[in-house]
Amino acid sequence: MLASQMYSPTLREVPADAEVVSHQLMLRAGFIRRIGAGIYTYLPLAWRTLRKIEAIVREEMDAVGGQEILMPIVQPAEIWQETGRWNVYGEEMFRLTDRHQRHFCLAPTHEELVTTLVKADVTSYKQVPLTLYQIQNKYRDEVRPRFGLMRSREFIMKDAYSFHTDTDSLAKTYQDMYDAYSRIFTRCGLYFRPVEADSGAIGGSGSHEFMVLAQSGEAAVVHCSQCDYAANLEVAIPTAVPVNPTEPAGELEEVATPGMNTIQALVDGLQIPVIQTIKAVAYAAGETVVLVMVPGDAEVNEVHVAGLFGEVELPPASEEALHALGFAPGYMSPVGIAPSDNLVVLVDPTVMNMNDAVCGANRKDVHYRHVSPQRDFKNVRVESVRLLHETDGCPHCGGKVSIDRGIEVGQVFKLGTKYSEALGATVLDADGKSVPLIMGCYGVGVSRTMAASIEQNHDDDGIIWPAAIAPYEVVVVPANAKDEVQFAAARELYDDLSAAGVETVLDDRRERAGIKFKDADLIGYPLRVTVGKHFAEDGQVELKVRKTGVVETLPPTAVVERVRELLREL
Ligand code: ATP
Ligand code: MG
Repeated sequence: MLASQMYSPTLREVPADAEVVSHQLMLRAGFIRRIGAGIYTYLPLAWRTLRKIEAIVREEMDAVGGQEILMPIVQPAEIWQETGRWNVYGEEMFRLTDRHQRHFCLAPTHEELVTTLVKADVTSYKQVPLTLYQIQNKYRDEVRPRFGLMRSREFIMKDAYSFHTDTDSLAKTYQDMYDAYSRIFTRCGLYFRPVEADSGAIGGSGSHEFMVLAQSGEAAVVHCSQCDYAANLEVAIPTAVPVNPTEPAGELEEVATPGMNTIQALVDGLQIPVIQTIKAVAYAAGETVVLVMVPGDAEVNEVHVAGLFGEVELPPASEEALHALGFAPGYMSPVGIAPSDNLVVLVDPTVMNMNDAVCGANRKDVHYRHVSPQRDFKNVRVESVRLLHETDGCPHCGGKVSIDRGIEVGQVFKLGTKYSEALGATVLDADGKSVPLIMGCYGVGVSRTMAASIEQNHDDDGIIWPAAIAPYEVVVVPANAKDEVQFAAARELYDDLSAAGVETVLDDRRERAGIKFKDADLIGYPLRVTVGKHFAEDGQVELKVRKTGVVETLPPTAVVERVRELLREL
């Protein structure tokens, strides 16, 4: 490819709306362009990298027995209504209506469609195990599309689905997929960690997420330094502290707290340590109000709380519902609240062990002090409901844990029979009995993986592609394109490298050398060969490794060999 003809419009300025480095660099280096919130065109460089990631994914899926298909993106509402997810997906689903007023969606995922597909043709246990996969656009109307390709509304996913009649077979495919995912992300040059994950959203009995560790990650990952425990913070439940009898520190007393409707305002206003405060957060589980009490410096584990009610997510309780039960938002606690069928109060065990705390008095601008939850909280359920903190230690071994940010690039699930039962996907087993298919599903965010790779592989000058997914492997730069000797030597090197199967760009633009070097660093070619002013004197060219900055000089005849050697290592 000649740089003069390549459609990779670079930008000198960082666009203001691009918050994370992968987004900034993909815009600046001419990889992507935005057409609407979370909707992008992949320009040639991005598309080459994406196709390389896809090729790696295909190879690894085929290696574990996957068969590639391509399912429709536009899907009829009926199959989604049968599993109940037409409603569950809510506003995240892009919906459309055809000319006959029939309802459709743009698929956010394909469990419904693949189960409907398989149900028609797979009728006997002899036809399974079966693993089907595809690589295709998915559509999710995310509340907050952001970070470029990391959280977009149209994105490329590899999704695979497996079908079984026994759980051992599912366990084997699950493990094969887990191993294949580890190979995929390793081959993409990523530093990642598989972690235990919540499977609430999709249903099922077991799940792992593959997390790329990076500051910009939207997920939090806990891992232990002493055992192999690693989990999404959402499923890391702090080891339950026993609730010990505590002596109340004094009589319950009202204190005026005008406008102090947040923990911070309370701490500042009363001049008390935050560990003396109790935080109340209220959710709605259908008609039921769920009041959650955690220490003032802790956060509610919302995924875990929702899971206790068989839900994926609980919306905040409405003000009307709270008032009806006697609560004053901003000043809530279970103290003095009458029991109701419409109320569940969940109290973290660490709160139950406090004995001189401050919590809301259920009247605006008033709190209680000297609160002893064991004495003062009636009709409550003690439940570990806060997010784990580093000081809690490992839920498995008590060892030291650390919490890092992670980007979820893939997830594997043991689904069980949720979709096959809802859609009537049954087969006859060896005894001639009709049984629902047991399923697994396995997703890789292909476009997110490209972004995650940049998050982990870049410096101040630009992207540093791992060779396996670089759009091109080498750029050849004649420092002075007007110098005919230099240009001819560069052209020859370019031809030799291309003939040897190395994916090469010749920067034939009549630009200053400095600009070409800047662009080469920005785009992130793993290797750069420069034919410079020394060439005329000593016949040597320069070979620079983008990742290490190491430069070697060598004669042009040695370049192909050395490039091949280096590419194997990068
Ligand atoms: P998240 O929790 O980040 O919203 P998810 O758990 O809903 O993701 P899955 O349904 O597990 O996502 O989809 C499989 C993979 O698709 C994810 O692991 C992720 O890599 C990718 N993915 C999901 N949503 C998006 C998105 N909005 N933009 C880009 N990639 C995405
Ligand atoms: Mg997921």
